[in-house]
Amino acid sequence: MEKRTFLKTGLFLGIAAAGSSILKACQNAAKPEKAVENADEKAALPPPEKRRSGPFTLPELGYGFDALEPHIDKMTMEIHHDKHHNGYVTKLNAAIEGTEYADYELNDILARVSADDKQKNIRNNAGGHWNHSQFWLSMTPGGANAPSGDLASSINQSFESFDKFKEQFSAASKGVFGSGWGWLCVGSDKKLFITSTPNQDNPLMSNIAKATGTPILGLDVWEHAYYLHYQNKRADYVDAFFNVINWDVVAERFKAAM
Ligand code: MN
Repeated sequence: MEKRTFLKTGLFLGIAAAGSSILKACQNAAKPEKAVENADEKAALPPPEKRRSGPFTLPELGYGFDALEPHIDKMTMEIHHDKHHNGYVTKLNAAIEGTEYADYELNDILARVSADDKQKNIRNNAGGHWNHSQFWLSMTPGGANAPSGDLASSINQSFESFDKFKEQFSAASKGVFGSGWGWLCVGSDKKLFITSTPNQDNPLMSNIAKATGTPILGLDVWEHAYYLHYQNKRADYVDAFFNVINWDVVAERFKAAM
């Protein structure tokens, strides 16, 4: 614990030239309790916004496995959450052990991971954990069918109408070759954009993704997400997803990203 406090202290000196989000995080951080005594140790670590204690854990789904029926079936949800997502969590904990990422927050790992083959395990499983954690929260039984308020206005501004947004998001998701994700994101210009990523990559991977931003809605189009119920008909699954989107959660993420 003392070492962590010490490392956090080093941050204040180490990040002077870093981006505004890091600076913002530090403005809220506790005042340094101890001066930097070992410059070498400080230099050995890149500056994380904050540190994490304990291993990553599988989050609760927050609703029953059958809650999204008939749009997403119970068995798919159960296997997807308990087996697939759990696998990413377990493998992520193993992959970061003994590496520079060992006690980093998930977002910090995503921001720093590279396309280097040596980081493949960390990249795939950190992405898998983040992507699925947002995915469960992005859905709810019987939610609103469309966004409202500022998010709705921004969607209209960026895509002309909700229907056009739906068309473009669906096309991006249906068009992923092989496994991957469709995304609605907020860019650094605070405008919404749609993108997709292969495998478990996501738009927070600034060294990897073709378009980077803050994802506020992601759709899993891996076959494991729909094959039991929809078989090869990914398009039907993508259409069905629009019946279970939790627009309240998406609106909260949008607000936080603005
Ligand atoms: Mn999945």
